[in-house]
Amino acid sequence: MRNGGAVLLDFDHTLFDTDRFFWIDIRAAFIQFGIDGGRWEESYARVWPDGYSLEKHLDYLTRQGQVTVSVKTAIQQVLRASFADLRSYLFADVEPFLSRLQAAKIPCFLLSFGDASWQEYKVHGAGLAHFFEDVFYTPKVQAKVEVVEKVVGRFGRIAVVDNDPRELDLIKARHPEIETFWITRVPRDALESVDSETRERFREARAYATLLAEFPHHRCHTLSEVTL
Ligand SMILES: [Mg+2]
Repeated sequence: MRNGGAVLLDFDHTLFDTDRFFWIDIRAAFIQFGIDGGRWEESYARVWPDGYSLEKHLDYLTRQGQVTVSVKTAIQQVLRASFADLRSYLFADVEPFLSRLQAAKIPCFLLSFGDASWQEYKVHGAGLAHFFEDVFYTPKVQAKVEVVEKVVGRFGRIAVVDNDPRELDLIKARHPEIETFWITRVPRDALESVDSETRERFREARAYATLLAEFPHHRCHTLSEVTL
C-alpha cells in the first residue's frame, strides 16, 4: 500500500458477516421465543422500509399479537446481552487489514448503506469506528458514488472495496481512475451449492456474488488482495 492514497470500504458482507449475524443468529434469537420464522421474515420486510432496528421489529411483532408484553421483555434482554459485542461477526482479516492501514497512515473511510442508526449500531458493536477517518451512512441504494465525490479530490489514489458490483459500476463510470475491488466472502463451493442450509447461510451474500458487472473490477475474496 502506498501513501498518498485512501481506502473506502463497504460494511455489510465486506467487513461484517451480515448473513450469519442477522439471518442466522438474530433470527434464531426471535424463534427461540416461539415466533414463527416465516412471520418473522414477513414482519422484517414491513419494518425495514421505515428504518430498521431490533426494537422496532419487536414493537411491530408485539402490535401484531405475535409477542406478549412479558415475552417482549425477555427477548429484549436476550438481544441486549447477546448482540452488544458484534466483533465475532467480523471476517478474520478485517482487524489486521485496518491495523496495517492505520500503521501506514493510509486514511480509511467507511461507506455503509442502510438506516443510519441501524448501521451505526453494527459498526460500533463491531468495534471498528476508531479505524476510520470518517464514516458515511447512506439510506439510498447505489448512492455511494455521491460519498466518493466528497473525498476523491483529496487523494492521489483511491481503492474502493464492496461486495455489490452495482455500487462499484457507478463509481467506475464516473471515476475510471479509482481502483474498484469486488469482494465475495462466499466460499466457491457454497456459491454453486444447491443445499438449502448452505444457501440460507449465505443468503444475501450469494445474490451479490452472482450479479453481472458492467466494468471489470478486481475480484477478490480477502482484504489481503486489496492493493493501492
Ligand atoms: Mg455490502
